[in-house]
Amino acid sequence: MRQLIAGNWKMNGTLGDALHMAVALRQAAGAIGCDLLICPPATLLQALASALAGTPVSVGAQDCHQMNSGAHTGDVSAPMVREAGARWVILGHSERRADHGETDALVHAKADAAASGGLTPIVCVGETERERLDGAQTAVVRRQLAASLPENFAGVVAYEPVWAIGTGRTPSGADVAAMHGFIRAELSARFGAAGRAMRILYGGSVKPANAAALLAIADVGGALVGGASLSAADFLAIARAAPQDQASLPNPNAGR
Ligand code: PEP
Repeated sequence: MRQLIAGNWKMNGTLGDALHMAVALRQAAGAIGCDLLICPPATLLQALASALAGTPVSVGAQDCHQMNSGAHTGDVSAPMVREAGARWVILGHSERRADHGETDALVHAKADAAASGGLTPIVCVGETERERLDGAQTAVVRRQLAASLPENFAGVVAYEPVWAIGTGRTPSGADVAAMHGFIRAELSARFGAAGRAMRILYGGSVKPANAAALLAIADVGGALVGGASLSAADFLAIARAAPQDQASLPNPNAGR
């Protein structure tokens, strides 16, 4: 399956930044053999989706509420972000789990709402540094997968060790391989063929300099990129470092 390179802008970005990114992606996307996704703040979804219309680049939200509408001040629902042009949504990011107390059960409810609202969920899992030092990382990720993913889950899982997010630190290649292999086994056991084909992204300090090595690891199906996705040059460099689906690239012999 084609890799997915997804950018999470978090609470960053102006309208100007979004339009600048759209111009750069418009020019480059046709020659990139992986799927591209930008998840800006909710305020920029509509403008970015309009600016990227007709390109293969998708737009996603960073969260959605578990209800479709109602008295939930400050929240946005899956149908709302879908109407704004989003087709994807990040759920259960560690910053939402930490800053907003989001539990696995809430992420599960949001994943259901996302699917019903026509969005593909990217559900984030990953251990804290303390949990890794205690050797509890697989137990933590097993619990998060079991409790956060609905029975009919048809989305993407992102493995994001919390201690690697925004720190410039990454797990060793062997540790990434071990965790992605573990997640694959869990998904396969639960979802069968769908679990064997499900994309598992790696996230946590992915940069142009380390992208090729991380994205070449077995069972890594792409990256969830935070800081580096704010720069079009860095985001595109990461996308070019991913294994390229040759079938989708322009034929170099065309016109000869
Ligand atoms: C993220 O926020 O999902 C993330 C991986 O951030 P960064 O790439 O900045 O570590």
